[in-house]
Amino acid sequence: MIAIPQRVLMGPGPSDVSPRVLEALGRQTIGHLDPVFLQLMDDIRTKMRQVFRTHNEMTLAVSGTGSAGMETLFVNLVEPGEKVLVCVNGVFGQRMTDVAQRCGADVETIEKPFGQVFDQNEVIAAVDRIRPKAVAIVHAETSTGAHQPVDKLGEAIHERGALLLLDCVTSLGGLPVEIDHWGIDAAYSGTQKCLSCPPGLSPVTLSPRAVQRLEARTRKVQSWYLDLSMVRQYWGQERFYHHTAPINMLYGLHEALAIALEEGLEKRFSRHRQAHEHLKTGLRDMGITYVSQEGHHLPMLNAVKIPPGVDDLKVRGRLLDDYGIEIGGGLGNFKGKAWRIGLMGHGATKRNAEMLLSALREILKA
Ligand SMILES: *Cc1c(COP(=O)(O)O)cnc(C)c1O
Repeated sequence: MIAIPQRVLMGPGPSDVSPRVLEALGRQTIGHLDPVFLQLMDDIRTKMRQVFRTHNEMTLAVSGTGSAGMETLFVNLVEPGEKVLVCVNGVFGQRMTDVAQRCGADVETIEKPFGQVFDQNEVIAAVDRIRPKAVAIVHAETSTGAHQPVDKLGEAIHERGALLLLDCVTSLGGLPVEIDHWGIDAAYSGTQKCLSCPPGLSPVTLSPRAVQRLEARTRKVQSWYLDLSMVRQYWGQERFYHHTAPINMLYGLHEALAIALEEGLEKRFSRHRQAHEHLKTGLRDMGITYVSQEGHHLPMLNAVKIPPGVDDLKVRGRLLDDYGIEIGGGLGNFKGKAWRIGLMGHGATKRNAEMLLSALREILKA
């Protein structure tokens, strides 16, 4: 087997996986209809509901990474020709636009420069103007490090007859995500960001209103693999075979969710905030500033300006080669202009923040 080096993953994901999760992944594979496995799935659903803070019956893990969750929402909840409003202020909003278009939606966007967030009233005004059937927005824009407030959108969007779709890939497990309280109709996440599990599954939840939309479809879902009307019959009491569940990945997710809940969500969020504050103070002392809007910095994803005259690739190369630390480069409009420093899940510690700061100080001095 190829030798895998020891790394500290401080980029935009994957994040460092806890040893307990790695151990869970290595357990014996059993059948996807084994009663013990079915019990584990039920437990995963219960735990996902707690982490999403929802009572939604339809809460399951889609086989695939966060982007599969994104595609699942659009392909199930939007029929060809229907109007969708996507809020775009970074790469993942752009990706949602592309996915929705491929589903045949009539996509309208509102846009903000990378790093800025939307005022929620602007979004509601756009809904009044455009009259979409669904509105999609990113909670934690990993390409810019911006934290988008979404707590006031649900009710207004429901009054206007639309569904509210949320990308919480990077926020889940690191920031409060209040699916029921905020009136989110459908949301997807990923395992490899603040849940600290390897990539491969996408936790997804649909409100009863979204399930109604799915059931009222006049056409079959275009994607066979991601069709929730079938996938739900495996996760539900019917236990109909649809596709073989990624058994070991689900062991890993189960363990990762258990760890998050044992710690307690509030404690976990505050650990993320503390690590972030520590990093931010240290960076500021070095004259390094954030690219995202003041007051809206994500704790788990610190997108900062590369200081003038500094060679992006050289610094990241030295961090990796000499210190074993991975950070991310800029994405989209920020390519070559920003570093993305992750403090996610298991790795959201002051110790990691301090380790990166000292390495960066050494490298920039040279
Ligand atoms: C990482 C990420 C995705 C995509 O997830 P993959 O696991 O890479 O498919 C989508 N949205 C956001 C905000 C992300 O950070």
